[in-house]
Amino acid sequence: MKENTERIRICPKCGKSYRGIPALSRVDSSPICPDCGTREALESIGIKPEEQELIMETIHRTYQA
Ligand SMILES: [Zn+2]
Repeated sequence: MKENTERIRICPKCGKSYRGIPALSRVDSSPICPDCGTREALESIGIKPEEQELIMETIHRTYQA
């Protein structure tokens, strides 16, 4: 399990590399990066792209060590 979470993956949605546990795409259940997972979740509840960016910024700021 440890190996699995530390592997670097490439997100098929945004093309960025990321580490850790992938989120699952709501569209086709493929593993995507946590950021895209959050975006899809926001989109699914009707958040506009501009608002999504603001929320993502807030999340990144909050979780930055
Ligand atoms: Zn992504």
